[in-house]
Amino acid sequence: GPALQVPDKTVDSVCPYCGVGCQLTYHVKDNTLIAVSGRDGPANHGRLCVKGRYGFDYVRHPQRLTVPLVRREGVPKRADETLDPARWQEVFREATWDEALDLAAAGWLRIRDRHGPRALAGFGSAKGSNEEAYLFQKLVRTGFRSHNVDHCTRLCHASSVAALLEGIGSAAVSNPVMDVMQAELVIVIGANPSVNHPVAATWIKNAVREGTRLVLCDPRHSELARHAWRHLAFKPDTDVALLNALLHVIVTEGLVDEAFIAGRTEGFEALREHVQGYSPEAMAPLCGIEAGVIREVGRAYATSRASMILWGMGVSQHVHGTDNARCLIALALATGQIGRPGTGLHPLRGQNNVQGASDAGLIPMMLPDYQRVTDPGARAKFERLWGVPLDDRPGLTVVEVMNAALAGEIRGMYIMGENPAMSDPDVNHARQALAALDHLVVQDIFLTETAALADVVLPASAFPEKTGTFTNTDRTVQLGRQALEPPGQARQDLWIIQALAQRLGLPWRYTDVSEVFDEMRHSMPSIAGITWERLQREHAVAYPCTQEGAPGQPVVFTERFPTPSGRGRFVPADIVPAAERPDADYPWVLITGRQLEHWHTGSMTRRSRVLDAIEPDPVALIHPLDLEALGARPGEVITLQSRRGEVSLYARADESIPRGAVFVAFCYYEAAANRLTNPALDPVAKIPELKYCAVRVRVGGT
Ligand code: SF4
Repeated sequence: GPALQVPDKTVDSVCPYCGVGCQLTYHVKDNTLIAVSGRDGPANHGRLCVKGRYGFDYVRHPQRLTVPLVRREGVPKRADETLDPARWQEVFREATWDEALDLAAAGWLRIRDRHGPRALAGFGSAKGSNEEAYLFQKLVRTGFRSHNVDHCTRLCHASSVAALLEGIGSAAVSNPVMDVMQAELVIVIGANPSVNHPVAATWIKNAVREGTRLVLCDPRHSELARHAWRHLAFKPDTDVALLNALLHVIVTEGLVDEAFIAGRTEGFEALREHVQGYSPEAMAPLCGIEAGVIREVGRAYATSRASMILWGMGVSQHVHGTDNARCLIALALATGQIGRPGTGLHPLRGQNNVQGASDAGLIPMMLPDYQRVTDPGARAKFERLWGVPLDDRPGLTVVEVMNAALAGEIRGMYIMGENPAMSDPDVNHARQALAALDHLVVQDIFLTETAALADVVLPASAFPEKTGTFTNTDRTVQLGRQALEPPGQARQDLWIIQALAQRLGLPWRYTDVSEVFDEMRHSMPSIAGITWERLQREHAVAYPCTQEGAPGQPVVFTERFPTPSGRGRFVPADIVPAAERPDADYPWVLITGRQLEHWHTGSMTRRSRVLDAIEPDPVALIHPLDLEALGARPGEVITLQSRRGEVSLYARADESIPRGAVFVAFCYYEAAANRLTNPALDPVAKIPELKYCAVRVRVGGT
C-alpha cells in the first residue's frame, strides 16, 4: 500500500462545519492537509464526526477558484442555468485583482449614486470568522450606507432569536451542550443531532448511559429515538399544540416553581389563563400523542432536579417558529429550569460561526452585540467608532432582499460565502432575483450556483487558509489558525473586504486580524474581556467575559435575565397552521434538512472525496410502506412536485420518516430541494417555512 505520510507540521484549529465547534489538529505536508485529528477542546474532548475527520480535501479540489473572474460582455444571466464549473470560460473571463476590485466597487457606487443606499445589499457568511463578519457588516453599513445586511441565520434560527430576545433578553444559549451530563432530564425537540451535531449527540447518549432521561420530540423516528426514555412522534406542524399541552399539565397540576415565577418572571397570569384551553386530552387528536404520555412528560420535566431543552430547525423553520420557541421558553420559566447547571435553553446552532456572525452584527436590525439600529445611543456609539453617519431604519432580511431584487428595488449585491441560489426557499424565485440584479459581486472558494449569476467573482480563502475567531453554539470563542496558503491568486477574505472598502472611499488600515478583533471587543461588551493573547494561549473562552482576566461564563441567567426589568417574560402562543397544508392536488408533506455526510448546499462536502463516496447521489427518504403503496422500489427514481417546481431523485426506504411525508436534504444541486419549498415567512422573525410544504409524488423521472 501507499507509504505512510509524515507531516511537516501540525496546526491547532477548529472544525469548519457545525456549531458544536470541535477542536482539531491539521497535519500538513507540502502545503496539503494529509490528516485531521481531534483535540481536547471544551465541546469535543478529542471527538470528531465524519465531517470533521474526513471533510477537508475540498480545499485542494481542482474546481477551486484561483483567479478573479468577470462576466464576459453580452453574456446574459439565465436564472434556469446550472453552470458546469468546468465550462466557466463560456460565461467569465479572467481578470487581474485590480480590475476585478475596481469593477466591483464602481458598480456599487454607480447604483448608490443613482438609486440611493437602500438599492444595495450584502449577505455575509456564518462560515466566515467573526472578524470577517464584523468587517463585512461594517462595509455594508458605512460603505453602502444602509443596514441591508443579513446571512443564513435568517434561514435557521431567526425565530429562536426573536423569541429569546423577547422572552429572556439574550439570543445565545443559557447552558453549553455538555451540561446534558448534569441534567436529570433532557428534551430534544425538532433536532436530529446524530446527523447535524454528531459530537453533541454523543454527549447526549453518554448522559443517557449515566441515567439521564431523554425525551425526543420529533415526527421522525431518528437515530436518537433508540436512546430516548420517551419518543413523542407528534404530527408535523403541531408543535404548539403539544407544547401548550405540556404547559397545561404543569400549570393545572401545580408543578410550577412559584418562587421562580414570583422572583424572576413577569406575565405568568396571562400564560396560566391561555393554556387552560390546551388540555392533553383536547390536544391528543391534533398532535397524535396520547394524553397520558403528555402528562407523564410534563410532570417529569417540571419535577426533575435539572431539566434542559435543546432544539433545532424542526422548531424554528415554520411560520409559527417564533411561537414554538416562545412555548419552550415558557416551559423553562414556569418550572425554574434555567439558570443552573444542567438546565436551560439551547438552540443548537447549525454552522460553525452562526452564533459569532450574528454577534458581530450580520443582521439588518442589529449592530454588533445586538445593539439595535433604531436605538439613537447605539447608533451614536458606532458613528463615533466608525466615523460615518448611520441610517436609522433597519434593513431588509434575506427573503425580503430577494423580493426587493425582483421588484427592481435592490439593484446591487455583495455576497460572501453564501449560496442563496441553493439555500433560499423557492430557489427558482431566488435565482430569478439574483439574475435580475444590475450588479452582483460574489466572493467564494467555488463557482457556486450563486456565483454563476455574478458579474464579478472574487476567489477567496478556505477555512484552513486563514486565521480568525469562531463562536460555537456554546458561546465559546475559539481560535481557528491558518494551516495552508490559498491556491493561485486566491486571497484572504479580510484582505478582499478591506480592498473593496478602500475603493468605496473608506480609510481602513488593518494590517492583522488581531486588530479587527481588538476593535470588536472594544465595541462589544460581551467579549470585552477576551484578548487575542488569551485566545492564543487558551484556544477558547466562553462569553460573557466583560473584564480582562474574568473566567467566562458557560452558564448564564443565574440571578437575572438581561431584559430591561431583569425578569423573564411569558408570551402565550396560539396554534397557527402551516402556510401550505396537503390537499387533494398535493397530498404529501415535504420536510427538508441535512444528511450526516453533507453540509448545507454541498459546495464543500460534495467535493470531499470520502464524504461524497459515502453519499454520492440525491435521495428522497420515504417510509417503506408509502413506497410500496406508490408502486416504487427502493433505488428507483421518483419525482416530487410542488406548486413552485419539481425535482427527481432516488427513492430510499426509511422507516424513520412519518407516513405521508418525504424527506430531502438540500445539498444536491442536480435536485435542489429548495425548488420545492415555500417562501412563506414567520411574521415576527421573517424565517421561511423550510420544514413544511405540500408536494405530489410520482414514480419516474422528468
Ligand atoms: Fe465538526 Fe460538528 Fe462534526 Fe464536531 S460535530 S467534527 S464541529 S461537524
